[in-house]
Amino acid sequence: MYNQKAYELGSNRSCIRELFEYGCRRAEVVGRENVYDYSLGNPSVPAPKEVNDAIRQILEDTDSVLVHGYTSAVGDLGARKAISEDLNARYNAGVKPENLFITCGAAPGLTAVFRALAVENGEILAVAPFFPEYRPFAEAAGLIFKVVPPDVPEFQIQLTELEKMLSPNTTAVILNSPNNPSGVVYTRKTLESLADLLRRKSAQYGHPIYVVADEPYRELSYGVEVPFLPTIYENSIVCYSYSKSLSLPGERIGYVYVPENAADSKALYAAIAGSARIAGHVCAPSLWQRVIARCTHLRPDLQAYDRNRRMLYDGLTACGYEMAKPDGAFYLFIKAPGGDAVAFSERAKEKDLLVVPGNDFGCPGYFRICYCVKPEMIEKSLPVFRELIESM
Ligand code: PLP
Repeated sequence: MYNQKAYELGSNRSCIRELFEYGCRRAEVVGRENVYDYSLGNPSVPAPKEVNDAIRQILEDTDSVLVHGYTSAVGDLGARKAISEDLNARYNAGVKPENLFITCGAAPGLTAVFRALAVENGEILAVAPFFPEYRPFAEAAGLIFKVVPPDVPEFQIQLTELEKMLSPNTTAVILNSPNNPSGVVYTRKTLESLADLLRRKSAQYGHPIYVVADEPYRELSYGVEVPFLPTIYENSIVCYSYSKSLSLPGERIGYVYVPENAADSKALYAAIAGSARIAGHVCAPSLWQRVIARCTHLRPDLQAYDRNRRMLYDGLTACGYEMAKPDGAFYLFIKAPGGDAVAFSERAKEKDLLVVPGNDFGCPGYFRICYCVKPEMIEKSLPVFRELIESM
């Protein structure tokens, strides 16, 4: 006997992984250079050199028993101090080490936060398009997952629709900006209006509605402001990750930040720690906590992503594709010619061009491309995109 829901999640591969693996198989047949794989969000810029230097230094100057030993479950104090100092220097946010819980990346942070917010009949609202894993994370935590329709074509937030979906059972809204898959950054105006609405509704319902700010792409923006949500809305809980900002997705390191002035801050923090505990969290990797303690000042080198972004945006709009302005992360979210993104993705696949339909992101009719790729691949793929749109 085994759990049917878990079986389904484990055996229904994600569409992104399917495409990526299909691309690997095709590469063996037609050659890697002839497959235009835009499926997976795996950073293509290497981690900064200082990260590798920090690893070497730590191995040399720190007691090996400490480097490889358990840390406290909430995280090493040195790492939490360094992160709080960096956040305070950038956002003047009043972060204290005791407000931070170090996690193995954003995903375990999100699952712990969702579980901590899962009151009986609790509902969480996600704004489409959204990272598909939110749904299984929320449902496994016992939350009812509701989707706010997308704000086409800008992909900000439709506040009137969101307001209609709020109820006395709403415990949280999950936001992701810069956004995967749209590449859009929510503006300060959007976030301030959302904060006003949530304050009003929290007062009406007599309990706080939290915003869970999923921010693995916070530092990946191209000339626009990415507001730090807790400075706009006090009841924000931040789930952060170094997977994208320092190109460390396989190392599994990030944190949850519960602001001191959030409602029930200390109890919420304890509930997050308790939720992590029952999910088997012992501590984040000790070596990586020490690396982060020395590397909080580092920022990603965005030149390569920015060049790819411009090449694709200019090239695709020139042949008639429509998309929201991609100001952040490393994705473009494009209106499918003909309106059916699954059919478009299938047609593209026949030409070894791999793009992800937006259905799992809560936004059918659009497809996502991830531009963590070589510029030569972009150059070679643009005529294929042109052929596809011209043959519609
Ligand atoms: N949230 C979003 C929006 C993501 O795109 C990803 C990964 O792609 C994650 C969370 C998970 O990040 P992590 O690798 O830190 O678990």
